[in-house]
Amino acid sequence: MSERRTLSIFGATGSVGLSTLDLVRQHREKYRVIALTANGNAVELAKLAKEFEPEIAVVADEAAYPALKDTLAGTATKAAAGPAALVEAAQMDADWTMAAIVGCAGLPPTMAAIEAGKTVALANKEALVSAGDLMMAAVEQSGATLLPVDSEHNAIFQCLAGGRIDQVRKITLTASGGPFRTYSLDQMRAVTPAQAVAHPNWDMGAKISVDSATMMNKGLELIEAHHLFPVGLDKLDIVVHPQSVIHSMVEYVDRSTLAQLGSPDMRIPIASALAWPERLETNSAPLDLARISKLEFEAPDLIRFPALRLARAAAEQGGATPAILNAANEVAVAAFLAGRIAFLDIVSVVEETLTGYRPNAPHSLTDLFSIDAAARAYASGQMDKLPHAA
Ligand code: NAD
Ligand code: MG
Repeated sequence: MSERRTLSIFGATGSVGLSTLDLVRQHREKYRVIALTANGNAVELAKLAKEFEPEIAVVADEAAYPALKDTLAGTATKAAAGPAALVEAAQMDADWTMAAIVGCAGLPPTMAAIEAGKTVALANKEALVSAGDLMMAAVEQSGATLLPVDSEHNAIFQCLAGGRIDQVRKITLTASGGPFRTYSLDQMRAVTPAQAVAHPNWDMGAKISVDSATMMNKGLELIEAHHLFPVGLDKLDIVVHPQSVIHSMVEYVDRSTLAQLGSPDMRIPIASALAWPERLETNSAPLDLARISKLEFEAPDLIRFPALRLARAAAEQGGATPAILNAANEVAVAAFLAGRIAFLDIVSVVEETLTGYRPNAPHSLTDLFSIDAAARAYASGQMDKLPHAA
């Protein structure tokens, strides 16, 4: 038997992290986990560490360290905590790294893994949206391999095996449209966090579920695609496809369009990145088109979903704009989930922050983090002025 591939999983306790570990559980003979990380849930992380026996388990939140250390005492797994420990874990000798922390908080370890020239499976889209130019330059410089995990980008990556990037005429990202696809703006005014996180097709973390509801998720994905697949923004398109069966499409110059299809189960794109360039068996539900019977498509509505317009403009402007869009969105989504602002305020706050705060383009990660912090502060100031804000 050949050596097992070694894996580091950042954001192991989240939706993508747990789906990744579920695949490892089914293929123990192929993979060995060497590092697992979480934010502050020491109990859950320790449970996973006992099952997968990594060399190290890291909590980002230092307050969770005592609990992690006590639970792991006497096991083969070392406990660690804090931002520096997270970055050190990213520099360990792993064959494959899953970047599945949510938000820009995932940027330091993701960049550390990239700068170390590793193979990085990227789910953490906020890091790429925020630091796209810096991250792609680091990939180029270190020779790291970036494997897209986001289902759309993974689909495009697979479809691009059918031709060369300079032969692409158009890339179409599909969007489910989220839980409020058919809602009027008036109906959206009063929706609750519970309604927003109840996605019709996918079972995901709270932040990305709210992003799907505002369609900011598709906006972030447009920027993500712009960095991963350099065909030009004018060749990147979005179509709403409520069944989430076609995960995205690539049209070539001969007008041949390749699509990737599958059940809406993140274990499928994760398996593709995990086994790449091989294939891995999964026990995900097979695609049953006769049962689904109908695939529907519609153009996205930029009036009801202005996040799409803001994100495209941010991609066009480049510089600091995508980082501001992302930072303002992160704090606004958190405020909505905490019941402090209304659903439609999320994108308004993002737009106000983009209008009011216009710094120069970041030239380093240090620049980027100060832009990120200032955009968060600006967005928070805007939210304090809102009538709903508690
Ligand atoms: P989640 O909320 O379920 O999990 C997030 C993980 O990140 C957890 O392990 C959490 O402990 C960790 N974390 C949170 N804040 C942290 C911090 N400040 N420092 C360190 N770790 C922190 O999120 P998810 O749905 O698994 O999404 C993870 C990423 O993958 C996001 O960027 C999301 O956009 C992307 N993604 C998710 C899905 C999906 O189906 N869930 C699909 C495509 C892309
Ligand atoms: Mg996606």
